[in-house]
Amino acid sequence: MFNLILFGPPGSGKGTQSKKLAEKYSLKHVSTGDILRSEVKQQTTLGKKAQAIMTTGELVPDELLIEILHSEIDNNKEAKGFIFDGFPRTTVQAKALDGLMVKVSSDICQVISLEVEDEEVVARLLKRAEIEGRKDDNAETISTRLKVYKSQTAPLLDYYDKQCKLYKVKGEGSIEEIFKSICLNIIPQ
Ligand code: AMP
Repeated sequence: MFNLILFGPPGSGKGTQSKKLAEKYSLKHVSTGDILRSEVKQQTTLGKKAQAIMTTGELVPDELLIEILHSEIDNNKEAKGFIFDGFPRTTVQAKALDGLMVKVSSDICQVISLEVEDEEVVARLLKRAEIEGRKDDNAETISTRLKVYKSQTAPLLDYYDKQCKLYKVKGEGSIEEIFKSICLNIIPQ
């Protein structure tokens, strides 16, 4: 299996680039944000628990996310590999993901980090709010999400760097330019 993590702050383009990568390398795209939004829309038990937290910009509890990941991996054992978008976001999640990968005799192969300046991220998210109307794309929530990213998620860069799995890519420019830069860093197995 070829398993990739697309890493970066909210608004760095993880979703857009993950979809393109999933198509090019025939990988199963797992976006925890999309999964949670779908649960909220269907008002499942999980969706109801996640909804209030998501509107504040804070993180949904690790155990719920790990459960989601467990079933995504379990239900897609035939996949050539996974591209994880928006997961892991904490050290607890990263360690749990390592364990889930071992269970399917696999491993995280590469972590691509999209590097985008704060001002650019804020501008992109405010623009997305106009187009998609996502409730968590407002000035206050964006500020919380960036703080949460810096305090809880960014430390994972070091976790993966120590394992020599981290590849940093400039996440500014056109979608195609960024996609090319990412692909130049991909080492499929
Ligand atoms: P995203 O679409 O990836 O920006 O995620 C939207 C929101 O869903 C986040 O602000 C969190 O509240 C929640 N979320 C998504 N992925 C995770 C995760 N891995 N851990 C905790 N919360 C998450």
